Amino acid sequence: MCNNPLIVRTLYLFKTSINIIKFVIPIGLIIMITIDLYKNLIIGKDNNNLKKIGTRLFAAFLVFIIPTLINYIFDIFSINTTSSNFASCYSEASIELANKLQQEEDLKLAQSEEENRKQALLESQLNSAKLKAMQEENIKRNQSANSGGSTYSDTTTDMNKQNHVYIKNGVFYAPKYRSGNKSTYSGRDCPGDHPEKKGYNNKYGYNNYFWTMLQNFREGLKKAGYNINYSNQGCRSYSYQTSFYARAEPGRAAKPGRSNHGWGIASDVDFYKNATTKCGSGRNYKNCPGMKWAHEHAKEYGLTFPLLNASYKEDWHIEPLNLKKY
Ligand SMILES: [Zn+2]
Repeated sequence: MCNNPLIVRTLYLFKTSINIIKFVIPIGLIIMITIDLYKNLIIGKDNNNLKKIGTRLFAAFLVFIIPTLINYIFDIFSINTTSSNFASCYSEASIELANKLQQEEDLKLAQSEEENRKQALLESQLNSAKLKAMQEENIKRNQSANSGGSTYSDTTTDMNKQNHVYIKNGVFYAPKYRSGNKSTYSGRDCPGDHPEKKGYNNKYGYNNYFWTMLQNFREGLKKAGYNINYSNQGCRSYSYQTSFYARAEPGRAAKPGRSNHGWGIASDVDFYKNATTKCGSGRNYKNCPGMKWAHEHAKEYGLTFPLLNASYKEDWHIEPLNLKKY
């Protein structure tokens, strides 16, 4: 208790106050008594007045003696170390002690803040190291996924062709829509008819890099106790997008030839509330924790849900995080 500067300060203030009271009130009373005695001399003997003098004398005595006794008792108890801590605390309470304790407390606070800062720095370093290792791991996985049968390459020649998706230095490049040039339409007759059929040799017709990312993402979701389904669509053909666009509400679907689905670099996924049950419609973060996890962790797998905050919100639409159109 005596280590708390606030308590020490309060005890000190209390002690000082009663020390002042113990002198000021008796002095006031003695002055009043003197006046009474003087009155008595002039007016003559008055029993009532004498009684009053007696009472005041007694009160003055009490006001002086009680605080003195309290201090004395606390002093006695504080000498005996086995008795009340409060007594010694009360006796030792001084403004110097309070200030000293305050300084110690401030120092401790500053030290713990410094400690917290160091801890946070360490954690952020660890996190960025973790993220870097994850990205390197993903690059390795992407490379291995793309080897084995595929002759797909990341060369400037691919860029010059500007008619299919490729990845260079971790960035996805997809052609922009160009009217009139059907060879650059997104989703011509995919997946089989992608230019040179490179980088699309997986069974769903996704771009291989994107497909690997989705697989990694599903592994992560499974580890967290959920799942995700992306097998119902790899690449959306131009003719499908045309009919889809025709029946969709305005602004809801991409113009035919413009959809990232047509390049196999977008997917509309199903979320799971646990390892086996799909969430379905009417889902939210509370009844579909797998969706919450997916939205929060996608970027760790190089993925993003770009239409989460769109005017037509599509919380299921997933794409590569670092997609560029040239
Ligand atoms: Zn979509």
